[in-house]
Amino acid sequence: MPKRTLKPATLAAQALGWVEPTTRAVVAPIHVSTTYERDPSYGPGRSYARADNPTFDQAEALLTALEGGRASLLFASGMAAATSVFLALKPGDHVLVPEVMYWGLRTWLQQFAAPRGLLVEFVPTGDVGALAKAVKPGTTKLLWVETPANPTWTVTDIAAAATIAHAAGARLAVDNTVATPLLTRPLQLGADLVMHSATKYLNGHSDVVAGALVTAATDDFWQTLISIRHDGGAILGPFEAWLLQRGMRTLHPRVMTACAGAMRIARHFEGHARVVEVLYPGLPRFEGHRVAAQQMTGGFGGMLSLRVAGGEAAALAVAARVEVFKRATSLGGVESLMEHRASVEGPTSPIPKDLLRLSVGIEDVDDLVADLEQALTPG
Ligand code: PLP
Repeated sequence: MPKRTLKPATLAAQALGWVEPTTRAVVAPIHVSTTYERDPSYGPGRSYARADNPTFDQAEALLTALEGGRASLLFASGMAAATSVFLALKPGDHVLVPEVMYWGLRTWLQQFAAPRGLLVEFVPTGDVGALAKAVKPGTTKLLWVETPANPTWTVTDIAAAATIAHAAGARLAVDNTVATPLLTRPLQLGADLVMHSATKYLNGHSDVVAGALVTAATDDFWQTLISIRHDGGAILGPFEAWLLQRGMRTLHPRVMTACAGAMRIARHFEGHARVVEVLYPGLPRFEGHRVAAQQMTGGFGGMLSLRVAGGEAAALAVAARVEVFKRATSLGGVESLMEHRASVEGPTSPIPKDLLRLSVGIEDVDDLVADLEQALTPG
């Protein structure tokens, strides 16, 4: 890699400029071997693919560079990465997590972590005052925030959350799935850990389930996370790691296109007769806009939600009529998706029933706007 500092788009496009030393190939091979020949003394070096795999190295190194961290770990899914952080804590440890957050993790915390002794408290992390009030110095070990948070896109002030966490002797972990390191670099704002559902923007093609953690320091907590991945075995397959690394090469153009599309859709449907509210951090009227404008650079993301006039039935009818948007879960792929989150999350969901979540892909945005128009105002 050249010595001068390169921009994230360049680092990503060239996967750090790595060239395979034997053949000079500019694309990394896939290492499928599960075991490695050891030196006669069984000294250091690779031993078994549950510990590490050369195919992970490139994706982990690229993600570490993009996030400005010290090290990264790939996992079998975003959930495997996220839950590892909570599994590294002890019974009796207090953790603060957002009221509105990725539903699967909220459910796991309620149904798995809390019954096993983790003191899980849900707080509106978008409100710095509420965070400061809820933190218990000495007992709180982790603040977990997701920003913008799925699917209301509530924005949390990462720098303020880091100050609150550190003053209480806690770590700050940020789910950076939606912002991606191109728009927000939580470690530079004081966070200790970053988590990604790499299934989303990092891979970007809806063909890999993967997760990742990135750390600001290779400390004892990080060593515990390495052990959790190794001992629990929630590793990624080499083919998936390779696909992820390939996907990350186009992260910049994909994310920039999605940001531009989401902004155009948000502006178009703000004030629309059939739309009660557009939830998008890029709109000046959005509650978290000021903080988003400070901590997000280059765009406000490709995710937004529409609250449809007429309530749940009207929202479901809109979702039934879309033709270009696909009615599907997940986000961050090249194809645009729409989802009625309340239907998916079930009766305990805190999400408004009139809300439709949109993941904006890289299609021609005129087609996306026209599709939403026809779905909102049929015949
Ligand atoms: N975090 C966010 C913000 C997500 O949207 C998701 C999945 O939708 C996850 C975490 C979990 O990731 P995975 O599905 O890769 O396990």
